[in-house]
Amino acid sequence: MSIWVTTIFLSMFLAVYFITSFHRPHLISDQETCVSNLQTIEWAKNKWAAVNNKNSNDVPQDSDLFGINSWWNTKPVCPSGGSYTLGNVATLPTCSIPGHNL
Ligand SMILES: [Zn+2]
Repeated sequence: MSIWVTTIFLSMFLAVYFITSFHRPHLISDQETCVSNLQTIEWAKNKWAAVNNKNSNDVPQDSDLFGINSWWNTKPVCPSGGSYTLGNVATLPTCSIPGHNL
């Protein structure tokens, strides 16, 4: 009897846990992922600029920052399908999806 009670409570706990984690507003977690991607891009840009003595108007190409021999193996991808603009050294990278920004 107590095993059944424990099982039922455990099932309810797991159900509530999964329902709340899956029903979180989807846009927020996409946005958070995207913002962390933008931080990665910004980090790679700063490294690239520092190592190559770039000035604030220089614009890196994808191949400068991403690839087997670069700062990051692969260019991060926006989970909402937005596209990233690296921008010059002085500006923050941007995503084409509104609200996805640093
Ligand atoms: Zn995005």
